[in-house]
Amino acid sequence: MTNNQHTIIKWTLAGSFAALICLGAYLSQIQSPVIAAEPETLSDEPLKKIVKPESEWKKILSKDQYRVVRKKGTERAFTGEYWNNKEKGVYHCVACDLPLFSSDTKFKSGTGWPSYWKPIKKEYVGEKKDRSFFMTRVEVICNRCDGHLGHVFDDGPRPTGLRYCINSAALKFRKKEASEDIEKKADK
Ligand SMILES: [Zn+2]
Repeated sequence: MTNNQHTIIKWTLAGSFAALICLGAYLSQIQSPVIAAEPETLSDEPLKKIVKPESEWKKILSKDQYRVVRKKGTERAFTGEYWNNKEKGVYHCVACDLPLFSSDTKFKSGTGWPSYWKPIKKEYVGEKKDRSFFMTRVEVICNRCDGHLGHVFDDGPRPTGLRYCINSAALKFRKKEASEDIEKKADK
C-alpha cells in the first residue's frame, strides 16, 4: 500500500465516522421532543399523570388556553368556542387530549359556558375545594395533567343534578366520526 492510499483510507474512515455522529445527533433530535399526547381511548387502566414544566405548557397552549388551564383563569361568558356548540362528539382536555365530556351530556344552561351533567369517565375529572373570590366552590381539573377546567355545581339537571361549568379554552372538541369508539366505552 502506498502512502497515498493509506491517507485516502484514513480520511474515508474519518469521514464516515463524522457522518455517523451527525446522523445520530439528528435522530436523537427528532425523537426527543414528543409533545403531543396519544389520543386516548377509555380504558380501566389508572391514569398516568402528565407532568411538564410551565415553560413546556406555554409552548403547547395558546395564551388564552394557558391562562385558563394553568393559571385557573375564566373566559368571559358567551365568548368561548363551545358554549353554543350542538354537534355530536367528545370534548377532550386541550392540554393532554384526555376525553372528558360527551356531547350526550351537554345541556343548555344559559350561563354562556359549556355545561355538562357528568364527565365521560368519573376518574378523569378531579375535584378540588376552591375558596377564591370569597366563595367556596368546587374546582374541576383534568385528572391526567391537573389542568384547570372550571367548576361543578349542584344545580344541574337530572339524572345527576350536577352542572359541570367548563371553559371552552380548556377543551378540544372532536366530532363524532372520530370519537365513536370512545363514546361506546363511556360510563352509562
Ligand atoms: Zn389534561
